[in-house]
Amino acid sequence: MPHQVPALSGRFDVAVIGAGVIGCAIARRLALAGARVAVIEKAIDILDGASKGNSAILHTGFDAPVGSLEQSCIAAGYEEYLSIHGRLGLPLIRSGAIVVAWTEEEEAILPALIEQARQNRIEDVEFLSGTSLRVAEPGLSSRARSGFRIPREYLIDPWSAPFAYLLQACENGAEILRGAEVIGGRRDGDWHLETTRGPVQAGLVINAAGLWGDLLDERLIGRRDFHIKPRKGQFIVYDKPAAALASHIILPVPTKVTKGVVVCRTAFDNLLVGPTAEDQDDREHAVLISETLALLQRRGEEILPGLKDHVVTAIYAGLRPATEFKDYQIRSHDGLSYITVGGIRSTGLSAALGIATHVERLAGLALTPPVAPVWPTVPNISEHAARDWQREGNGGVACHCEMVTRREILAALEGPLAARSLAGLKRRTRVTMGRCQGFFCTAELSRLTQDRFDRAMAEMAK
Ligand SMILES: Cc1cc2nc3c(=O)[nH]c(=O)nc-3n(C[C@H](O)[C@H](O)[C@H](O)COP(=O)(O)OP(=O)(O)OC[C@H]3O[C@@H](n4cnc5c(N)ncnc54)[C@H](O)[C@@H]3O)c2cc1C
Repeated sequence: MPHQVPALSGRFDVAVIGAGVIGCAIARRLALAGARVAVIEKAIDILDGASKGNSAILHTGFDAPVGSLEQSCIAAGYEEYLSIHGRLGLPLIRSGAIVVAWTEEEEAILPALIEQARQNRIEDVEFLSGTSLRVAEPGLSSRARSGFRIPREYLIDPWSAPFAYLLQACENGAEILRGAEVIGGRRDGDWHLETTRGPVQAGLVINAAGLWGDLLDERLIGRRDFHIKPRKGQFIVYDKPAAALASHIILPVPTKVTKGVVVCRTAFDNLLVGPTAEDQDDREHAVLISETLALLQRRGEEILPGLKDHVVTAIYAGLRPATEFKDYQIRSHDGLSYITVGGIRSTGLSAALGIATHVERLAGLALTPPVAPVWPTVPNISEHAARDWQREGNGGVACHCEMVTRREILAALEGPLAARSLAGLKRRTRVTMGRCQGFFCTAELSRLTQDRFDRAMAEMAK
């Protein structure tokens, strides 16, 4: 039974439903604009939907449809990430990418792709012959025919950015309610949302519910303009020595449906092969299939033959909130004070900040921004800069595979976005994500966390 006491007290200018990367970025933008923002998330922790597993490429949008909303949001999101990442302490691995043609048919498409990149204002793409490809990426198979380089495609990590966006929102007045599913709502000038943890009142509602966006529209405004068709992407992760095999993000020639199987290093210094693109009905579960993973492994070895000598240490899968449309489904519903931000399929990590600016424009709120906005710095979990284990007073290393310290773990259990689950803790620190997959550190971890998680659960049950 829903509680009757307000889950968050007072009236909010905006309620953002969903704490995936898109909801987090929108909350940040509107809090920085001066709005009183509530973020409502049904999962026990943030980043539990599509945003929990992706390839973590900061796309330039070189291959996005020219003139699309997706292309303009990627371009704006990319630029803003570059301008704020230093201030928030976010990673940026300037790897560059190469698109490789493996067949005659793919080779024939390259000139059109290069032209498309130029129309999307990515002017510095550069054609590479087979020989130049192998100079750029010596480990590449001799079967690579030709390709092109996109020097400014970069790598980030999947979780620090959305975490930083929401943290900055919170530090500038936003409030977050986790473990609260929006199950209904009515409007009488203001919105009165019904959640599983009590009512929330807001002037404007923003649906950033990702894989559930169409169902939430139906629930709140009685219509849906698109249908989510989850598209699964499975990945395999190689152990750290394999990262030395590739310096660029190695992309295939994209098709109309997918960007295809990518091989790239990660910000954590592993090597990633994936994702697949498999349509399914299930919005919740991304099941790993061993035959598909074996095919991915074979594909990885065809691209980088040296991978044969390396071991896979982890596998995972994510679900993209795809729809029957190629472009994002973002619209303000006239007279309803309600904005849908849906169908952010496969580029949301790159486009999030651009989408947030677009949504701020649609919202058209007359606000007064804070005089001195707060700029928090998030703990660094990537290998691009010094880690906590390299500093004094860290309490010692708890996870030796990923070199996560006790101080990092304890810090992740504090603050407005304290981790509420082991999965949430992993996404904030990398703990248990290494070669042993938690075999050696789980006992120590449960000692450090159990009491905190129990208390958080008890708090949420009130
Ligand atoms: C395999 C894969 C690879 C990808 N690679 C890249 C990449 O390299 N670069 C890139 O830029 N992008 C990439 N993406 C895309 C990116 O991850 C997505 O675009 C992005 O995560 C979508 O975020 P979202 O916030 O819209 O949705 P979600 O992350 O699903 O967030 C929606 C949130 O809403 C919550 N919610 C739903 N219903 C309710 C309700 N009723 N009440 C309260 N809360 C609710 C959910 O629990 C969820 O947390 C990839 C995606 C996948 C799956």
